[in-house]
Amino acid sequence: MPFPANIALYKGPIGPLVQRCPLCPPRLVTSDLRRCTGCLALSYCGHEHQTAHRPQHKSVCKKLKKVRAVVAKEEHKVRHATETNNVPANAFATHVGRFFNIVSTRPYMLVRFELAKRLLLLGTVDAVTEGLEHLRDLLRLSEDDDLGVRELVPGTMLRLDLDQECYDFIKWWETADPGNDKKRGDKTLLPFLDVHGADPLEDLTFLGEHNDLSSLVCLLILKLKLLIDIRNIKVTRHALSGYRHLPIEMKDQIELATTRSPLSKKLHLMSHASLLQTEKKLLAQCVTLGAAIDEANPKFMLYLFFDPAQPLRQEIVLVMQYTYATFWETEGLFGLLNDARACAARDAEHDIIDSVRAKKMKAGTTSGETLATESAKRIWEYLHYAVENASFLGPVSERPFEKHMKNKKNADQHKKCTENKDDKKND
Ligand SMILES: [Zn+2]
Ligand SMILES: [Zn+2]
Repeated sequence: MPFPANIALYKGPIGPLVQRCPLCPPRLVTSDLRRCTGCLALSYCGHEHQTAHRPQHKSVCKKLKKVRAVVAKEEHKVRHATETNNVPANAFATHVGRFFNIVSTRPYMLVRFELAKRLLLLGTVDAVTEGLEHLRDLLRLSEDDDLGVRELVPGTMLRLDLDQECYDFIKWWETADPGNDKKRGDKTLLPFLDVHGADPLEDLTFLGEHNDLSSLVCLLILKLKLLIDIRNIKVTRHALSGYRHLPIEMKDQIELATTRSPLSKKLHLMSHASLLQTEKKLLAQCVTLGAAIDEANPKFMLYLFFDPAQPLRQEIVLVMQYTYATFWETEGLFGLLNDARACAARDAEHDIIDSVRAKKMKAGTTSGETLATESAKRIWEYLHYAVENASFLGPVSERPFEKHMKNKKNADQHKKCTENKDDKKND
């Protein structure tokens, strides 16, 4: 398994993947990069940085080169096999879609999957693009997907901002092949991954009772990505409203430049009222997805924040590995989730401490740790405050959540006063 469990290793530069030299500043765009001839997956601004990066890159590079050679060798074997009852002469000509049913193609499929995973880890636009090509081709070759390739696809698409493709992909797996329990077997002539241009803002009614955790997580990332774009559009419109003489085309260009998802071109055309309505809808969908993720795996959100050393269930480890880079590279995402957590922690501090006392804290955990855990569980109840806070441009002390806290405090005081008065009357 080339995917490391240490989540910190997935933390590359935040933001869209761009062509870049690993030793140059993350956002520095260099036009003619030279590609490493060993692995063909990293590029450098020049000889100097390539030499300087060699000690660090050497082992990854050699490994990748070796895996590429094995893929080529195994492919040759599949294309030029000695035909027997179980082995076709060239499975590429006769068994596309059913590769994994033929035992002789398995070494090829496995090593190509490994190559894809290694490329995804490198986190360069070339490597991730190539990784996705391998994943898509593995699915084309084996529609039953015994290897679980589909779990890596949506997150990888989001990293490359192929957001529509990601939505279509998830929708197909969750509707045409729920739970992947209908083995396609010889049904390879039936439509496969044929959902195109589905509406990413539509209701989530297509989700069944049992969905892949990776699908739910990627849908959540996609919706949060759109919410962040809406926030950016709102803030930009507000900021530009004072510049009445600025040409409208220029305002349009500035507004579009603040969005990340290609899907936001539609959001950018919306009136303020429709934008607010869409924001509300997306927010409600995020809360639904959050609840579905908690139900599918109550530990997932906790591990997302706490860099687990030893996660409990294999499913979390995999989904975390498959999606962490996507979370990390989507700018604004952790900011939003962390703010929701902070709101939950402040608002719920008293309840949480009371409930902790009632349950008796587990030996060895501090109240701070328990508060952190409990607030991560309540994140979905507070996401709307984080979203409101994010587009609020006034002073911090007047943010929507601060107002909520002030109102709550006033209501508490009022309640106490009334209770005291009642007590006195009764005396
Ligand atoms: Zn460089
Ligand atoms: Zn290399």
